Amino acid sequence: ARQSGQGRYQFYEADMSARSLDRFELETDLRAAMQRQEFELFYQPQIDLQTGEVSGAEALIRWNHPTRGRVPPDQFIPIAEETGLIHPIGQWVLEEACRQACLWQEEGHELKVSVNLSALQLNNGDIVDVVRQVLQQTGLSSRWLELELTESYLFENFSRSARVLKRLRLLGVSLALDDFGTGYSSLSYLRRLTLHRLKIDRSFVKGLPDDPGDLAIVNTIIAMAKSLSLEVVAEGVETAQQHQSLLALGCHTSQGYYYAAPESAQAFRHRLATFRRA
Ligand code: C2E
Ligand code: CA
Ligand code: CA
Ligand code: CA
Repeated sequence: ARQSGQGRYQFYEADMSARSLDRFELETDLRAAMQRQEFELFYQPQIDLQTGEVSGAEALIRWNHPTRGRVPPDQFIPIAEETGLIHPIGQWVLEEACRQACLWQEEGHELKVSVNLSALQLNNGDIVDVVRQVLQQTGLSSRWLELELTESYLFENFSRSARVLKRLRLLGVSLALDDFGTGYSSLSYLRRLTLHRLKIDRSFVKGLPDDPGDLAIVNTIIAMAKSLSLEVVAEGVETAQQHQSLLALGCHTSQGYYYAAPESAQAFRHRLATFRRA
């Protein structure tokens, strides 16, 4: 028993050090990634369910690592947050997304770009100045920029975030609450934030239209949003049935693999050009 106990312990220790080594390497590489220009933004269209047109695109970061290949954001955003690298990376994301949105405008495509903001970026005091500067530098009108925020930060730090959101809104940018339904937002809190849209988390879209629980939740979110004059975006729409169901429920905007997966800027521009002709 003693031996197997020791074996387990050794196994555990080896596993731990492999993981911390991996983590250490990722962190080192992440520090160099900005200079080496290894980041890229992919874009996923958001579809206006009334018109069927592309009304926006969410910018999603990709890290093209020289040996690991494409590292998904869920694996490096947390490291970027712990190390503070989220600030330069987040600023790059904003700049790059606004530059792209300018190109779309120049080509006659009127659509918003949605950028994910980490809670830490919002907490950083100068986020309003960063956004203002990026808009100035890129020349993008603020009406074409949307910022996606998550509940966790907003409600931990409510009065401060309400003030920051108000100042962002004064710049003219739109604000969306991401992954809605997974946190603890109450109606009274939502009413006091200057938001424009709620993004229904994909875990609730998944069971549409057959799961009565998911159907009730999505229906309730849409009704609640309407009563607060907020728009609703459904995330993670993968099937025609989900699309039909959301249309019937009166959802405004829809996003997911059913329409298109996130893709490179070039592929996305091609999509816009063909969408128009269709
Ligand atoms: P998110 O903001 O909730 O983004 C949506 C995620 O769902 C994306 O994963 C997207 O590729 C994926 N997705 C889109 N349609 C479908 C679908 O129909 N089915 C399924 N199963 N998934 C779908 P991705 O690109 O891996 O990003 C993961 C998370 O990483 C994002 O979740 C966001 O929290 C974070 N993230 C991505 N880009 C950025 C960024 O630039 N800055 C920050 N701070 N976070 C980012
Ligand atoms: Ca998002
Ligand atoms: Ca989301
Ligand atoms: Ca998320």
